[in-house]
Amino acid sequence: MADIINLLPDNIANQIAAGEVIQRPASAVKELLENAVDAGATEIQLIIRDAGKELVQVIDNGSGMSDTDARMCFERHATSKIKSIDDLFQIRTMGFRGEALASIAAVSQVELKSRRAEDELGTFIEIDNSVIRRQEPCQAPVGTSIAMKNLFFNVPARRNFLKSNAAEMRHIVDEFIRVALAFPHLQFSLNSNGQQMFHFEKGSLKQRIVSILGQHYNSKLVTVKESTDYMNIHGFVGKPETAKKTRGDQFFFVNNRFIKSSYLNHAVMNAFAETIPPDSFPLYVLFIDLDPAHVDINVHPTKQEIKFDDERILYAFVQSAIKHALAQFSVTPALDFDLDPGIQQLDALTQPFTEEKKAQSAGTSIYKTFTSANQAHIIDKSNNSNLQHWKELYGPPPARDNDFPPPPSPSDFPPVSTASVIDERWQEAAHDQKGPVQVHQQYILSQIKSGFILVDQRSAHERILYERYLRALAEKPIATQQSLFPQTLELLPADAIIVHEMLPDLQALGYDLEPFGQHTFVVRGTPADIQTGNEQASIEGLLEQFKNFSHELKHNRRERLVRSMARNNAIPSGKPLSTREMQNIIDELFACSMPNISPGGRGTFISFKLNDLEKMFDRGF
Ligand code: ADP
Ligand code: MG
Repeated sequence: MADIINLLPDNIANQIAAGEVIQRPASAVKELLENAVDAGATEIQLIIRDAGKELVQVIDNGSGMSDTDARMCFERHATSKIKSIDDLFQIRTMGFRGEALASIAAVSQVELKSRRAEDELGTFIEIDNSVIRRQEPCQAPVGTSIAMKNLFFNVPARRNFLKSNAAEMRHIVDEFIRVALAFPHLQFSLNSNGQQMFHFEKGSLKQRIVSILGQHYNSKLVTVKESTDYMNIHGFVGKPETAKKTRGDQFFFVNNRFIKSSYLNHAVMNAFAETIPPDSFPLYVLFIDLDPAHVDINVHPTKQEIKFDDERILYAFVQSAIKHALAQFSVTPALDFDLDPGIQQLDALTQPFTEEKKAQSAGTSIYKTFTSANQAHIIDKSNNSNLQHWKELYGPPPARDNDFPPPPSPSDFPPVSTASVIDERWQEAAHDQKGPVQVHQQYILSQIKSGFILVDQRSAHERILYERYLRALAEKPIATQQSLFPQTLELLPADAIIVHEMLPDLQALGYDLEPFGQHTFVVRGTPADIQTGNEQASIEGLLEQFKNFSHELKHNRRERLVRSMARNNAIPSGKPLSTREMQNIIDELFACSMPNISPGGRGTFISFKLNDLEKMFDRGF
């Protein structure tokens, strides 16, 4: 019997391989646009006819190609972007597999025109079915134009699989928008059947987003920006009121590459959870930059899925960055919105990982890097950004003091007690006239730069305690105040089980409890800010709250414990407060990562703007 194994001819091998890379006109759009970006172009035109079935053409003003390269680039595995396997882990270009042009050439008719700045004449090439039909010198502007004509003309089965023009055009626009968002400092245009559909001037990311989504988004975007040694995130989320009932304007880019990740999407949704109705979807355009060595972009041929070294860190990082951003917008509406065009973008491009930083993070555990002072939702007291946020709210600097004091540390917070009347007078006198005022023993009225705010004392304190307790569990346990006379606490069997399970967390939160027999505990100490004499009541109240929360399955046990404690220990409405206590509440509230909302989703304060007040009076009420 004769041998039966043949090597496939190149054009058939290419056609088969092309199936993975070029599935529809939009795939070619993505590849050609990315090549233009990789070639350093600053102006990129996309021209489409018949939803890309007849023509997909990209014209750029990038580096151009030499005669030889112009021929070579259609070979399979022809790439200028990697030379060794090590390069694969430092990829900063969009392409690197050297497959796209070979695949396009295998399933269509291609015309390429290209010229480098140093060459007098450019080169023109015509290819179909992977075969070069013609190559000749030609006049051409610097840059490259590649036209893909009659996609799948030689693979009728695939051509028949293409969807309606409307559907294919939708895919094309999606790809176009993704690339345009990733590179706002480049000019892009899209022309379809002779009509200009989009034209984006070079600008900042915000300008790009607004030119895509519409001018009214200008005031609806919240800046997201956090940096750690391990990764950076920047971009925008829509204010909660822009959330829509349909998923749509949601974009994640990792090292400027558009990705789909339901996991990271979940992190964003989670950060929005308390601020938008269920079943609605917030807008986001987020860029995560990290050392390419920590990402595997190679897992999927069309590269929309992505694998990270440690997804959990990324999740926590994304979630807290967004919470932080959302928390700030409510307080500082105009925070750095009109930055110089391109600044946000520059960041992404100019913050690659230095050798030094790489060595550092390789040496230590990544997790440690992340949970140190860099962690997004922990406010670093030494960091001025927080003070900035303060000055926005209360500035210009009040006469009483130019150096705004740093937010107090949790231990500065005095136990809430009813101050004696004399005390109260003294403090009142000592304090600035503009000090806060208590209204109906329930609200705190405080003057700010743009008007005044009305703080709900209970919700606000609940938020403060909630964050303090979370911090206690994550990093530094709360100090315990030892009781002079340890009490025994007898519990119902079911309650005793809960307490047993929670013992380590309770200890971190400042309770010193010791099991004593089956359902009994000895209480040796309580968190320093709970008044002595209340040990038993405090724990019983806590248990009660905890059981109330038990139907809320979405929270894990720790979360429930923290929420219960915050609710249980928060200052109730109806409690008179001294000026000092009110000031402390305000100070601490605005040092929180999410000051505007209680853990249970109630508002913590309302702000009244002078402008709005004026208008109200004008209208006669
Ligand atoms: P890859 O982008 O993965 O390297 P492609 O098949 O997309 O593979 O492109 C092959 C090579 O052709 C690129 O590495 C690059 O050197 C060259 N090339 C492609 N498009 C352009 C362009 N628009 N301008 C300049 N060079 C290009
Ligand atoms: Mg490419």
